Amino acid sequence: NMDKNVRVRFAPSPTGRLHVGGARTAIYNWAFARAMGGDFILRIEDTDPERSTEENVQVILNAMKWLGLDWDEGPEVGGDAGPYFQTQRMDTYAEALERMKERGSVYPCFCTKEELDAKRAAAEANEGGYAGYDRTCRDLDPAEAARRIAAGEPHVWRLRVPEDHAAIEFDDAVYGHVSFPAEVMDDMIVVRTDGSPTYNFAVVCDDANMGVTHVIRGDDHLSNTPRQILIYEALGLRVPTFAHLSMILGPDGKKLSKRHGAASVEEFYERGYLSDAMVNFLALLGWSLDGETTLIDRATLCEKFGLNRVTKKDAVFDETKLDWM
Ligand code: GLU
Repeated sequence: NMDKNVRVRFAPSPTGRLHVGGARTAIYNWAFARAMGGDFILRIEDTDPERSTEENVQVILNAMKWLGLDWDEGPEVGGDAGPYFQTQRMDTYAEALERMKERGSVYPCFCTKEELDAKRAAAEANEGGYAGYDRTCRDLDPAEAARRIAAGEPHVWRLRVPEDHAAIEFDDAVYGHVSFPAEVMDDMIVVRTDGSPTYNFAVVCDDANMGVTHVIRGDDHLSNTPRQILIYEALGLRVPTFAHLSMILGPDGKKLSKRHGAASVEEFYERGYLSDAMVNFLALLGWSLDGETTLIDRATLCEKFGLNRVTKKDAVFDETKLDWM
């Protein structure tokens, strides 16, 4: 069951090293693209200038190369194709904003941080708590809004969340049917005062522009998915298939981190582990070929990997098991 139209991506933020959880996500995306005869894209999500570093970009690229995960396209850099960098794609986010303005699916919001903080504090002092932005600017007269923009008044752009949804639902390729009540959906900011895109907005613009068919990522993004679906709808674009991967836990059942020893690919590389063993080990943390096979190489992965055998159970990473591989 090949499908050459499959396009997937791995989208790390260069705010740290490549965590083994991220490496597994990368392996699954890559193997899925190869097994389907589709394309694998690497996209560096470097829009957070405070936390992204060039050094982390290099460490991630080196880890990808060490793991043998080749990507298929991107703007040419020194004779190589790709990866994509979000900071080089700012014009595409601006275009998408224009499209949403034309469709009436966003509105400018002039509320200042002080005003919003005061409202939040007042709401939190109340029984009900803060229920999101109160939509003060949602029904501003368009001529008045245009006048304030022309006068240079600082503003963000917010999504006009439609009122006719009872729930935002999708069929996750791993989790099955997922439903979020619509009332928890805030009129989220898509473009900030300085013109920069928010995380959810940039991801949707890129996934749409790159023709991504399957979004395979960690389930720490599960709650972003309904927000992203609303953005697809606001842009009038087709929603891709989502596949959320369970967390990788340490032997104590807590989210895998430095406390458990090595948690980044780089550390395993430095300790002299073989990349073949690492790929083998990570591939089987949450996916299985037949419930039995424990030794698996890249060629087999590229032939046999499928989302149907990815489990939603949390995977336990026990590095002592890697030692005998
Ligand atoms: N850049 C995000 C992260 O590093 C991933 C976004 C996504 O896969 O949709 O967690």
